[in-house]
Amino acid sequence: MQNLNLINSTKMKYDYFCPTCLSPITVNNNIVLTIQRQSGESGIIFLDTTPGNYSKIKHSSFKTDKNELMKIFCPVCHKDLLCLPDKNLARLYMKDSDGDNLTVLFSVKYGEESTYIVKDKEIQSKYGKDSEDVDFESLSLCK
Ligand SMILES: [Zn+2]
Repeated sequence: MQNLNLINSTKMKYDYFCPTCLSPITVNNNIVLTIQRQSGESGIIFLDTTPGNYSKIKHSSFKTDKNELMKIFCPVCHKDLLCLPDKNLARLYMKDSDGDNLTVLFSVKYGEESTYIVKDKEIQSKYGKDSEDVDFESLSLCK
């Protein structure tokens, strides 16, 4: 008989949704997004669903520069996910295994590691070496 709690904690599942069309955009533990370079070149990127895991998968022919500002779009409705332009943060909705509805803000600067999980305008947790103290309550998040 295996320990059920251990199984649950090691198989923590996160489900991500577009904040505009509410389509689920998680496939096999990857967040699927369309990204676009300054040059206009577009590609598909897979991000790990676990907050704080910054491994990403993309086609080898799609090159990006470190610290390049990317445009990030929903792959379903193609809405630009940028939410706080001053902070270079894009937004997704996320449901964790507890069923909590959360807002995830993450950097659109390629290679920058900052992720904020926000619930009711307050930071619940933040991840990444580049994250800072941001008072989201004083900022007007995009609608
Ligand atoms: Zn969408």
